[in-house]
Amino acid sequence: MGGDAGAALEAGRVLFAGECRFVRAVQSIEALPPVGVAEVAFAGRSNVGKSSLLNALTGRRALARVSGMPGRTQQLVFFDLSGRLMLVDLPGYGYAQAPKSVQADWQGLMFDYLRGRPNLRRVLLLLDARVEVKASDVAAMQMLDRAAVTFQLVLTKADSVRPPALAAKEQQARALARAHSAAHPEVITTSSATALGMAALRAVLADLAE
Ligand code: GDP
Repeated sequence: MGGDAGAALEAGRVLFAGECRFVRAVQSIEALPPVGVAEVAFAGRSNVGKSSLLNALTGRRALARVSGMPGRTQQLVFFDLSGRLMLVDLPGYGYAQAPKSVQADWQGLMFDYLRGRPNLRRVLLLLDARVEVKASDVAAMQMLDRAAVTFQLVLTKADSVRPPALAAKEQQARALARAHSAAHPEVITTSSATALGMAALRAVLADLAE
């Protein structure tokens, strides 16, 4: 491994070794925390493994609630990482399958947040490695293109897919990234179960932190 990559991994480790504090859960634009340090938001279909990823990433067992009940409340949940980066857990979308439900889920609060947040550095858009990319995922990417918010695709649950299928999935995700104006070209493959990709993801986040 090169020195730069090693340094990036170390920066990620240090960032996540620090304090991670729940700030607030908001349901209206007025309740958003004041614009402060850089923010990175986590998005994805309900059940994509977002809560598990946040917990694995931060090493907190129950930072975000892993839920068997997708599609509950429309909340944005803010977590402060050592005063250097805010992690924002966005509500899951697409539970009703129809692409128009993304529009419904992401209207109002979500879209206002995504479009109007000057310190939002990136959205991590999670895709379940073991299921097909859904119309709702594509609709979410289109909305991020429209909002001109840089997003990066993150494959979840890599442990549950055989290597050839995973490689195909990664290729598909990279092709999707190329097709979307707001997408970051690099795709990150993760598993919350095995911690695959966690150090790499922490390094990416450290690069966006203050
Ligand atoms: P959320 O609705 O996006 O927050 O998803 P959860 O984190 O609640 O996870 C949804 C389901 O996927 C749960 O049954 C998890 O146990 C499972 N899951 C989450 N991450 C992984 C993973 O890395 N590997 C495997 N095999 N299952 C996972």
